[in-house]
Amino acid sequence: MKRFFCILMLAAMFAACGKEKNPGEPAFERPSYASGQKQGNITYQLLIYSFADSDGDGIGDFNGIKSKLDYLDALGVSALWLSPAHPADSYHGYDVQDYSKVNPKYGTEADFKALIDAAHAKGIKIYMDYVLNHTGKGNVWFAEAKKGPASDKFGWFHISSNPSADIAAGKFPMLTSYNSGEWHDVTVGEIGYTGRLHFKVDFSGTPRTMTVTAADGAAQTSNTDTSVNMFLWVGEPGQAVRMYRTGTDIYEITLDVDTPWGVLVRTSDTSWDGGTKWGAPKGANVLIFGEPLALSTEDAQDILFGSPTPMKFQGAFGSWMPDLNYGPVSTASSSGAFQALAQTADKWMDMGVDGFRLDAVKHIYSAERGNENPEFLRQWYERCNSTFRRTHSSDLYMVGEVWMGSSDVAPYYKGLPACFEFDFWERLKWVLNQRTGCYFVKDLTGYRKAYAAVRPGAIAATKLTNHDETRAASILGRDLAKLKQAAAFLMTAEGEPYIYQGEELGYWGKDGDDGGRDELVRTPMVWESASTAATGDLGGHVDMSLVTDAISVAAQEKDEESLLRTYYEWTYARNTCSALASGKMSSHGRYNESNTLDSSVAAWYMTAPDGAKALVVHNVGASPVDLDLDGDKLSDMLVSLGSVSVSGTTLELGANSSAVFRQ
Ligand code: CA
Ligand code: CA
Repeated sequence: MKRFFCILMLAAMFAACGKEKNPGEPAFERPSYASGQKQGNITYQLLIYSFADSDGDGIGDFNGIKSKLDYLDALGVSALWLSPAHPADSYHGYDVQDYSKVNPKYGTEADFKALIDAAHAKGIKIYMDYVLNHTGKGNVWFAEAKKGPASDKFGWFHISSNPSADIAAGKFPMLTSYNSGEWHDVTVGEIGYTGRLHFKVDFSGTPRTMTVTAADGAAQTSNTDTSVNMFLWVGEPGQAVRMYRTGTDIYEITLDVDTPWGVLVRTSDTSWDGGTKWGAPKGANVLIFGEPLALSTEDAQDILFGSPTPMKFQGAFGSWMPDLNYGPVSTASSSGAFQALAQTADKWMDMGVDGFRLDAVKHIYSAERGNENPEFLRQWYERCNSTFRRTHSSDLYMVGEVWMGSSDVAPYYKGLPACFEFDFWERLKWVLNQRTGCYFVKDLTGYRKAYAAVRPGAIAATKLTNHDETRAASILGRDLAKLKQAAAFLMTAEGEPYIYQGEELGYWGKDGDDGGRDELVRTPMVWESASTAATGDLGGHVDMSLVTDAISVAAQEKDEESLLRTYYEWTYARNTCSALASGKMSSHGRYNESNTLDSSVAAWYMTAPDGAKALVVHNVGASPVDLDLDGDKLSDMLVSLGSVSVSGTTLELGANSSAVFRQ
């Protein structure tokens, strides 16, 4: 067969493409968008701590993000998903100390507000990452809850002296079975007390003891009889209180205490030396109310307040992340934890935040009975949306992380308008590495059908990888042609795509589950110079082979063959073509799952509500293919990748080549 190839020149998409190149000058100008043109619903996931550092302390911050909004705008991004912005125990922020504040490492609340306003001025929305399953161990509510049943926050967590019995008795409706690995000591070195206590120190025998009980009687003040040399040192901030002698070598006092730890016993209020300090024996320093505690001067330990029996708390992700307790799902929205969290979300929405990404939602009701999590999320969404709708005419955006296969994700659309589609990448990496594209459309449309059955208008949040996954480049063998095609798939498929920080630069890295470290998939952006990269919060766990000027944004912008330039082209195509931006995906009549002769081809139509239609064709094979596209219009190519030739009704696609044609 005689074939005629005519290599199509790409339509000039960017202003720069039509310009004369001056030697020595970079010929590239970033894409720019007219108002309303950016319709692709592309979100960029960024890690505040490693995106951009504005003040040279090595830690990314709000002002750093603000300074890169031009870049994000040119990348075609219409929303940012920020890693958790709250004060947190760890660098990554998923163990929140206080949901109502911003992490001072990242700047002030005014800085955050300025970022929101500057983003809005460019048509970029801000989504906050909210962790509803658990807090950090350093959380302000947990600090209160640990003080015991008298605390109004006690019930906001799962805290118990006998978890298995309490679960069996139905006291923790969120849990159906006792998993000892999820329960951690709340007491040792942790618990304090606020309230009225009675102290009795008995020096009449051996060992000397102290007994503490909850007090009914009136509180006393420090004894003024200076002949009594027996004191309690009550921290924190710490004060010596003189006790009352109530018998031979017996001393007592009833006190109102507010201490994060406990007490010491002293026989002098002026000296800490020698025998004046009586504490607890090493390894046994948690005092149980009502039980005498042996006192010791040998390596005397701080006496910590316990509870009638030692308590444990439930933390499914480990001893540093206590799970929140919302009670039975039927009344979750009236629980204290729910209402307090919702009030913090209100604050951020009032400040201008446009949406939320919800972490680990399948773990909230850990038993996953029936629809508990989707029902909980429905209540959460409706509560937040009611606040949002006070000032907006559209509904709030909220996307859930349900890290499961699509059939398990589908029920979550009962609660949320959007969920991440982890299967998108699961399928796409198989397509690219197996060089088999013919099943992709059938798989994807199958998933979407399941979502739509639960929620008409369900938004599939598509993505390659995120901060918890081995990087796409590592999965694809750092093959640039495959990485470019992954971007082309992401920007031509139905859904609302996410680009993860560094993905557009081709960052590689293996996560902790793959023999690497989680930090290695959270590498800082390199803008112009590696020397300013925000490496400071990653504890030295940075793959410095990525942090180079050669991989930087500046270098890739100058390189026509770079992955970043491919991202610019394909995000631009998605943003400016309504068929790609909001289209529904449908199979091609000839190149589909039935055509295993051309198994390397993935082809589909995207059809927008406004009637705009595009033909999308990808060849993931290592060899060129000739495709007979009689019946399709090949004269109006929107964007292409690799080697693309059209001759009459024949399209030749080279290895890892893609094209989109307006119909
Ligand atoms: Ca900084
Ligand atoms: Ca949970």
